[in-house]
Amino acid sequence: MAIIEIKNVAKRFGAVTALHNVDMTIADKEFMVLLGASGCGKTTLLRIIAGLETPSEGEIWIGGRRVDHLPPRQRGIAMVFQNYAVFPHLTVFENIAFGLRMQKTPQDQVRRRVTRTAELMHIEQLLERYSGQLSGGQRQRVAVARALAMEPEVILMDEPLSNLDALLRLEMRAELKGVLAEAKSTAIYVTHDQVEAMSLADRIAVVHKGRIVQAAEPIEVYRNPATRFVGSFIGNPPMNFLPARADGGGRWSVAGFSLQGPTAERPLEFAIRPEDLTPAEAGIPAIARVVEPLGPHLLVTTEVEGQTFRAVLESERRVVPGDRLHLAPMPGRARWFDPETETAIA
Ligand code: ATP
Repeated sequence: MAIIEIKNVAKRFGAVTALHNVDMTIADKEFMVLLGASGCGKTTLLRIIAGLETPSEGEIWIGGRRVDHLPPRQRGIAMVFQNYAVFPHLTVFENIAFGLRMQKTPQDQVRRRVTRTAELMHIEQLLERYSGQLSGGQRQRVAVARALAMEPEVILMDEPLSNLDALLRLEMRAELKGVLAEAKSTAIYVTHDQVEAMSLADRIAVVHKGRIVQAAEPIEVYRNPATRFVGSFIGNPPMNFLPARADGGGRWSVAGFSLQGPTAERPLEFAIRPEDLTPAEAGIPAIARVVEPLGPHLLVTTEVEGQTFRAVLESERRVVPGDRLHLAPMPGRARWFDPETETAIA
């Protein structure tokens, strides 16, 4: 059982606090993605779990054992990094076998495990090639295979697909998901790519300024962002926000459009995803500014009370710049945030 417990972990680099008291438990065999913008602290957290960095405060437990005082080698983890260090002067076989050789694994077992993981990663035909002769995508597979060959209880990955071109990334993403499910390892995967996060994760932990602001299933993070930041960071085109004025009794006025919302005294911020809007008789009054036919749908960038407000509409819809629209939020899809704390109102 490889449950990972991060207990009250803080990390300071001189005057910079990279992590503030992070608490999180990752279940056995769970695929957890740490998602956040550049510099938010996600790599630092991964490196602390790996043992490449010591926490300023707090503890790391893996499988019920405290590991933060142990060297990386003794933590039962394997790692795949962005600049996946594949040794060019070794064959693919020897690259995959590298960790096993270090552990003095018997030769027959090395052969069995290397062959199996190579098959899993679809590189069995490359085993005798020198890694220097491989494409970026193939090298990437070798790096993942090397980690999997260790049959680790925990696999840590830091932007492992970032060096690949878009199509290869897409392919590898789909493969990784299947491969890791089969490997039955607990996985932590760092990325700043929200689509990658949504696609791979059992749960996404959104990291913002050194804090985990939400850890939940992808659809939950998407539908019910815990903070304004999560709502704006996840989703493309991004979530729309508009000020809302309380009309009493849970009625709210958004750009003059009246709708039902939570009961609160103070002004709130109304939020809606662009695909959760439909043109209707009554809705938020918007003037179309830019109309982009994207194939499967139409992206309309509008202006509402001087602010940018986007709607994703059916591709058959005929809208031209200058059109006046009324955009109605689909039932149950509006979200509300406290503008002071920037957190969601239940
Ligand atoms: P990226 O996606 O750009 O790698 P990240 O979310 O992984 O970003 P971290 O690398 O964890 O972010 O960095 C978090 C903060 O800690 C940043 O402000 C960074 O500058 C700082 N930091 C990280 N490592 C060190 C270090 N060794 N010395 C000083 N500051 C550091």
